[in-house]
Amino acid sequence: MNCIFCRIIKKEIPSKIVYEDELVLAFEDIAPQAPVHILVITKKHYSTLLEIEDKELIGHIFMVIKKIAKEKGIDERGFRVVMNCNHEAGQTVYHVHFHLLAGRQMHWPPG
Ligand code: AMP
Repeated sequence: MNCIFCRIIKKEIPSKIVYEDELVLAFEDIAPQAPVHILVITKKHYSTLLEIEDKELIGHIFMVIKKIAKEKGIDERGFRVVMNCNHEAGQTVYHVHFHLLAGRQMHWPPG
């Protein structure tokens, strides 16, 4: 399978890793939309959130996001978590990932 995020997990493509464990990998987005823009991805390949039935995995992802937010010192100021599912939401990489964005004032509604 020629999935770019699977290749990042296998370290075939370089990335700036900020966190890794047996279930997830977190690395800096290549085209940051905020001063802090980190992607948290599942190590197992799921194309979209719709394929995930594992509640513990979803919970784990959010615990990792909290941990990174604290380590980056953005927990008190605030941060945004975005997960784009399918084309109308703007998903471009079909390997489940959560965007962790912070470091500037966010706006609502999102574009
Ligand atoms: P989405 O549009 O929600 O599917 O998000 C995909 C994200 O992956 C975008 O923010 C891209 O900038 C990011 N991205 C694509 N290729 C890479 C890469 N090689 N390393 C880091 N981030 C990437």
